[in-house]
Amino acid sequence: MCRHLAYLGPPVSLRSLLFDPPYGLLRQSWAPRDMRGGGTINADGFGVGWYPDGGEPVRYRRAQPMWSDTTLPELAAVTTAGGVLAAVRSATVGMPLHETAAAPFAEGRWLFSHNGVVRGWPDSLVPLAGGLPLRDLLTLEVPTDSALLWALVRHRLRAGATPGDAVAGTVAAVAAAAPGSRLNLLLTDGVTVAASVAGHALSVRRTPESVLLASEPSDDDPGWRPVPDGRLVVATAAGLDVRELTVA
Ligand code: GLN
Repeated sequence: MCRHLAYLGPPVSLRSLLFDPPYGLLRQSWAPRDMRGGGTINADGFGVGWYPDGGEPVRYRRAQPMWSDTTLPELAAVTTAGGVLAAVRSATVGMPLHETAAAPFAEGRWLFSHNGVVRGWPDSLVPLAGGLPLRDLLTLEVPTDSALLWALVRHRLRAGATPGDAVAGTVAAVAAAAPGSRLNLLLTDGVTVAASVAGHALSVRRTPESVLLASEPSDDDPGWRPVPDGRLVVATAAGLDVRELTVA
């Protein structure tokens, strides 16, 4: 069910993140190694967001499988960035197939992705959605659980929450309202990345000057570390903090 990744560090090509690794996001779109929670392939769209020279992020999203896009390989070969968030999508049954449903969701410097599903959607989230400004609901990019989760995270960010608190607070509130949900969230502003591990896998690979978080390792490098379920990862290119996710 969807796979995502985030990279922070010295500029690298999108190709080196998406296409070159033997089990990178391209391979994960048709042969993921870990698809707990249902689904077999991630063919319902994809998206890449990156930060050009410290500016606001640029996105490239499509509703088609990553492997069938003929533009992305050329774009990825010539595009380098020091901050990247990318995802391939396996749509939850009943949710729309459209490029606006493919992560990353974005506003300003923020990029966001959700790997998972909200149980009892949409009724289970009525109490939480009621706390959002009506404008946010009326301008929801697409009627999916992931888009509403992004609205909830963004609401906390606008109120001044740190990325880690925005992710952890949203996971706690949604887990309480919709028990059994799978809520692996990924949020970055190009400097800090926050990721929850709640129902799906996440692995981390660090070097002294970079960090790569991914639903599953993109190669067999022994540097990959799986993050246990129920954790929040907050990282910059220079350091990483892993703490318990507290469920309200
Ligand atoms: N439920 C979300 C969607 O349909 C995410 C799906 C997933 O993680 N597979 O877009």
